[in-house]
Amino acid sequence: MLQQTQVKTVLPYFKIFLLHFPSLESLSRTNERKVLKLWEGLGYYRRARNLLATAKILVKKNNSKLPKKIIDIKKLPGIGDYTANALLAYIHNQPTIAIDGNVKRVFSRILNKSENKIDFNKLIENNKKFLFRTTRHSDFVEAIMEFGALICKPKQPECFKCNIKTTCEYFKSDKKFKKSKRTPLKEKNYNVFCYIDKQKKKIALTKKHDLGFLDKFYLPPIKEATIKNKIKNWNFHSSFKNFISNKKLNINLYYKFSSKLPLQLQWFSLKRNNEFIPSFTKKVFKQILDIN
Ligand code: SF4
Repeated sequence: MLQQTQVKTVLPYFKIFLLHFPSLESLSRTNERKVLKLWEGLGYYRRARNLLATAKILVKKNNSKLPKKIIDIKKLPGIGDYTANALLAYIHNQPTIAIDGNVKRVFSRILNKSENKIDFNKLIENNKKFLFRTTRHSDFVEAIMEFGALICKPKQPECFKCNIKTTCEYFKSDKKFKKSKRTPLKEKNYNVFCYIDKQKKKIALTKKHDLGFLDKFYLPPIKEATIKNKIKNWNFHSSFKNFISNKKLNINLYYKFSSKLPLQLQWFSLKRNNEFIPSFTKKVFKQILDIN
C-alpha cells in the first residue's frame, strides 16, 4: 500500500484491510473482487492484485513463509528490488537497505553529489561493514527512510538538529550540489464517451479498453486522441486533467443519452455500486451527475 502513497493516506485503508484479512491465510482464501473493493480509492490497483497473488503462492507453495533469498522473493508477483530488500530486512532481519527516494536523498546529501552520479548498490556494497554494524537490520532500514522523511527532508533539511552533520558534505560545503531535474510526467489526450440512461441514472461501462494501467477495470469507452475537436453525434461536456500512476491524462468528456445498451457495455448506477469502480471512473461520474 505504501508504494507511491503517503502513510497518512494509507492508514485508514490498512486498518480496515487488516480487519478483513488478519493473516496471510485469510487473504489467500479471498477473491480479487473483495480485495479491490477494499483498495478502492487508493489507486495503483496492480499492487492489490499482486498482493493477493503473492498471498496465494506463499500459502500454497511455501508453507505461508516468505523465502529468505532475494532471488526467490523477486519471483513473486510485483516484487522488485526495493520491496524485496525491505521484506528481507523487515521480516528476516537481514542486512540490506531498501533504496527509495528518501534513502537516495540522504546518501546524496551526505556525499554532496547529485543522485544520478551515484551507483547506490555499489555504494552500499562498498560500505557494508560500516553500514551494517547493528544487529537490528529491520529497525535500521526503517530508520534511514524515516530520517529522510523527517530530518533530511526534500525541502529545507533540518541540518541543525541532525546528528550526522559533522560528517555530512552537504552541510559542510559552501558549494552544494544541484538537484537533478525531475523527468516530466508522460502526457496523453483521451476522449471519454459516456452513454447515459437519464431516467435510471445509469452509465454504460466496459472492461474492454486500451488503458493498460487500468486493465480489467470498468471505464466508459475511451480512446486516445490527438487534438480536442467536435465529435459527430456526441455532446461535449468538459475537459479535465487526471493523474494516474506517473501519467498525466488530458480528458475530453463527451456524452449522449441512450436507454439502449451498446454492445460489450454494462449499465452501472451513477450513485451506488457494489462492484469495484476505479477513482478515474468515479471522477467521470461526478462530472456528469449535473447533466439534465
Ligand atoms: S546535515 Fe542536513 S543535509 Fe546532511 S544529512 Fe543531516 S539533515 Fe541531511
